[in-house]
Amino acid sequence: MSSYIIRLDDAAEKRDISKWNQIEQMLDAYAVKPLAGVIPCCMDPEMEHYEKDACFWEKVRSWEKKGWTIAMHGYRHVYDSMDGGLNPVQNKSEFAGHPLEVQKKKIRQGIAVFRQHGIEPSVFFAPSHTFDHNTLEALKQESAIRIISDTAANSIYKYRDFWFVPQQSGRARRLPFQISTFCYHPNNMQEQDFVKLEKFIQTNRNSFLGFEELDFTCSTGKTIFDYVAGQGYFLFRKFRESGRKAAMVKLINKVKEAGFCNTVTGSVKRVYYELLCRKYRFDRWHISPYELRKYIQAAAGCINKGGGYSAPCY
Ligand SMILES: [Zn+2]
Repeated sequence: MSSYIIRLDDAAEKRDISKWNQIEQMLDAYAVKPLAGVIPCCMDPEMEHYEKDACFWEKVRSWEKKGWTIAMHGYRHVYDSMDGGLNPVQNKSEFAGHPLEVQKKKIRQGIAVFRQHGIEPSVFFAPSHTFDHNTLEALKQESAIRIISDTAANSIYKYRDFWFVPQQSGRARRLPFQISTFCYHPNNMQEQDFVKLEKFIQTNRNSFLGFEELDFTCSTGKTIFDYVAGQGYFLFRKFRESGRKAAMVKLINKVKEAGFCNTVTGSVKRVYYELLCRKYRFDRWHISPYELRKYIQAAAGCINKGGGYSAPCY
């Protein structure tokens, strides 16, 4: 059976307080305990417009008290590298690509802010999911954190003295993994996102686990299932992105080649011929290949005469 974890990203002094309150109330109603990613010293310009919560750290302590797990979500949440690192979900990072000393400083200063407010984070996840070996080394040298929430895998695995809890989806849905983390950004959630999430929780409440309930006794590395899940995830993303782009370029070139009016006329004709083909039970391939236009016209002429299928007549 699959187990689900909710992860909430981008908790900071400046955030959409009402949306964070909304998700907190919803999760409380179903006693779901999420992993909350706190940015210790947020300087992300995209979050600058939110109202500042003067009682933010009090709020973080209250989350911790009610069983939420607090994660260190980067340091400033500012991207100053174009490296995808070990988990290249995106080609931007606050950590990946930076020398060890630079990363150690970020981790050290971030941890200091947490400690200043009486919190010792036990989990780390980087902004945009991107980190590298130096990030792991920096965490090892500057913090007590040994758990990372990220990478695509089937279940928890151990790598270089760290436990990795996979994070596979940006929304709640049934996935074929042993452990699935759904990552939400409350600041950007729309009403329909709240409705869909609540419905999913109602239907699958028994499958949700708090981070504290996970079993970290395993000491095995990635299994073949983890490897397949990870590779499959990145292949799917690549295919989806390149597929969309390639299809768009192909379409634009085709319209340019044929001309806009001809494209519209051709599209109408195509639908008409498809209907005729269906009517006369004519094989669909007769109208599909672009290169066979002459044959298509002849075939269409045949079926227009009402004869249905007959020997080729061109
Ligand atoms: Zn973030």
